[in-house]
Amino acid sequence: MKVRSTAKRVPSAKKSTTAVSAPTARKNKKKSGAASAKYPDIRRGLDRQRAAILEEVEEVLTNRPDHEAFPDVSDQASAEINQNFSMRIRDRERKLLKKIEEALDRMSSGTYGICERCDGDIPYKRLKARPVTTLCIECKTLQEQEERASR
Ligand SMILES: [Zn+2]
Repeated sequence: MKVRSTAKRVPSAKKSTTAVSAPTARKNKKKSGAASAKYPDIRRGLDRQRAAILEEVEEVLTNRPDHEAFPDVSDQASAEINQNFSMRIRDRERKLLKKIEEALDRMSSGTYGICERCDGDIPYKRLKARPVTTLCIECKTLQEQEERASR
């Protein structure tokens, strides 16, 4: 039988021991695969848009009593505050923020730019114009026709 776990303790490293910190040690959340590198400018645009909305949300936050600053506030009171808060974020922004986050999720999972309906590639031009879209133009048109027909 060989020696188990501690066997791999090689005394001398190959070269210098300073090669510990990788140069790409920026904000690498989860796995930033090839997909996020595929549309760097769109990603930047989405990030910027999200930041702008969050900034607005933060403004709403600072204009309300911060219940974390009052730890003795009751659960009911903080629930009311939260309700007020979410009511004050405009519906449109909430929806857009959700769409942006979903788009960023798709980027990290590598499904960004693929049509949900036909699995075809959504043309870059369309993505650029509507970065949160999940449908190619043909499928979007079909969907709109269906929506109109079901009314
Ligand atoms: Zn499609």
